[in-house]
Order: sequence, then C-alpha cells, then structure tokens
Amino acid sequence: MAETIPSAQSTEIRPTGEDNVIEVLDLHVHFFTTLGVVRALNGVTFKIPRGRVLGVVGESGSGKSVTGFSIMQLVQHPGKIVKGQILLKARKDDQPINILKYDRHSQQMRNIRGNEVGMIFQEPMTSLNPSYTVGNQIQEAILLHQTPDKDEAWRRTVDILRRVGMPNPERIARSYPHELSGGMRQRAMIAMALSCTPSLLIADEPTTALDVTTEAQILDLMRELQKDIGMSIMFITHNMGVVAQMCDEVVVMYLGRIVERASVEEIFYDPKHPYTVALLRSIPRIGLSKGEKLEVIKGGVPDSYSTVTGCPFHPRCPNFMPGICDKVMPAETPIEGNPHHTVRCHLYPGSAAEAEVETSGLAPGTAPAAS
Ligand code: SF4
Repeated sequence: MAETIPSAQSTEIRPTGEDNVIEVLDLHVHFFTTLGVVRALNGVTFKIPRGRVLGVVGESGSGKSVTGFSIMQLVQHPGKIVKGQILLKARKDDQPINILKYDRHSQQMRNIRGNEVGMIFQEPMTSLNPSYTVGNQIQEAILLHQTPDKDEAWRRTVDILRRVGMPNPERIARSYPHELSGGMRQRAMIAMALSCTPSLLIADEPTTALDVTTEAQILDLMRELQKDIGMSIMFITHNMGVVAQMCDEVVVMYLGRIVERASVEEIFYDPKHPYTVALLRSIPRIGLSKGEKLEVIKGGVPDSYSTVTGCPFHPRCPNFMPGICDKVMPAETPIEGNPHHTVRCHLYPGSAAEAEVETSGLAPGTAPAAS
C-alpha cells in the first residue's frame, strides 16, 4: 500500500522560546527514487544558540550534508522535505520564521540564502564559478543583499578578502579561481559566505580537501571571524579532531537520526552511545604504542536501499542485545542528571519509553512522488 507522506508544515511544533538562531524540528527528508523511497533524515531535531558552534558528526551517508542543504532549501530532486520545521531567528529581537513555508525559489528564500545564512561547501573549485573573478563573485552577493553601490560593494569585497588573510587582496579580487591555490580558494569561499555577515554559517566539511597546515589556518580564521561577527556556525564534519578544536556542542548522526547530543567536553570525556565511542576510538591519539593499530568500526553504513529494523546501528554494535536492539527503535533519552546530554540507545534507562518498531533506509513498496 502506498505510504502517506505528510506535508512539510503538517505538524506544528512549538519553538523553545530561547535565543536560538536556528531550530530544526522533527525534520524528515525523503528521496523518491525509481526503486522506492530513501529516508535520508528521520526526525532530526536540534537548535543552535546565538554565537555558538554546533558540530554535526557522523560517517558518510549519515545525513549531515542533507541537513545543511535542507536549511538552505537546496535539496535537489528527487529529494524532498516531507515533514518538519526549520525556524530561523536571524536577529535577537526577531520572531522566528518557519522557512519551509517559503517556496525554495521565492524571493524570501533568496534573501535568506547568502544574507541570513551563509554556506561553505566542501570543494571550492566546484562551488566557485571558473569564468568570473573571485572579486566579481563576492561583489555580486554584496550588491544583491547589502548595497546597490558598485564602488562600495567592491571596497567591501577587498576588505573581506583582507579579513580572511589574503595577501594583496586587490590582486586576488581580480584573479580567477584557477589562479589560486586550494587554501586560497577555500579562503575565498569563506570570504564569500561571510561577505553579508550572516547570522548562521553552515560549513560543510570546509577543510577536507586541504593539507593539515592550511586546515589549521582556516579553522583558526573561522573561529576568529566567528567571535568578531558573533555568528553561529553549524560545522559538518567526520573529523573528531576538528570538532574538538571548533565546537561548543555536538550532535552525532547515524542513518538520518541523531544518536547522541552533548557538549564537546562530554562527547570527548564521557561518550555514551556505542557509535560515538567507536568513532572516538578510531582517531589517532598520542600514546599509541608502536605497532598498535587504530580500532575500526566493523562493517559499513548500510546502503540506502537496505532495510534495518530496530536500532539502525545494531548490525555493527559491540553491545548488541538480541531481541531488543534488532526489534525496537530506542527513543532519545536524557542521561540521568543531565538533560543536555541525550542518547538513543537501549543501554540507558528510559530508552524504550517510546518504543516503536521502525525501519531505516529504503521503505519498500512506498509510492514514488514528484519533487
Ligand atoms: Fe547498540 Fe543496542 Fe544501543 Fe543500538 S540500542 S547502540 S544496538 S546497544
């Protein structure tokens, strides 16, 4: 029987009333392929307080980038946001607005993209237009959102290039992307994203393609600019070292769900979910003895077309409990005494309170629909 897909605004959830730049509430994103419906996000909820940095971590295929693209309403066909709310509160005194009420091609959405919410993509060479100079591309965003005065827009372009540490910013502004090194292109992308001083910056693995020295410089730069401008950052990465350096709070994602959320200190010093523990054990650390191998998480993320019943991590989990973990989806549960540290795992009391049998990945027999 065909599955009924709820509309994006069908279930209104109240915002928290705190000063959060963004609140993502019960977000579901499906991809309607010819083989069936792939559930990329299955009820993702998080918030980013003003001026804070949230790390979103997980392996490839966990839904990190889809979450970022959903906030920008840039999920491409055959993907569709089918349920949830994304509440944006660009300035402290604004009322939060549910941006999913706007059509993705609307003027309101164009005003939000680049102006209120900036995004840095993983690979700058594919994000910068090779046929325009770097300066033209930054100037265009400033002309669109900030000022119609071309001279003023150019002055601001050179200024933001200077702020991101470009040597000789006037010359760089007149250069084409292919004339710059990888690190300089990434700085140009950061300059473009920051040119309109957004309230929220979504950084999607912004340093993955860079060597470690340039990565360290870019991370320092982002932290510095974040403090200067006072913006919030959603930092998407699979690199726990980068999380330790950049983030205040962390959400860990697995197969389109948040499986643990906590402050960065709690994630590193007191991780609870077996997946978070495994992620931390798989990063190099000082003190490894000679010949000692890094631990790996056995198996891989199930492909989008497979079906997993119960806890999505159970086929790979060292703490797997037959009869529970493979049957019942654990509910998100606060760790005792700390409502800000939550985990989705049957090892913790209360996790079965909202017990439900659920499948992840492909929903067989579901009806393909137009985007
Ligand atoms: Fe492992 Fe079970 Fe916890 Fe899932 S619910 S992470 S399978 S112990």
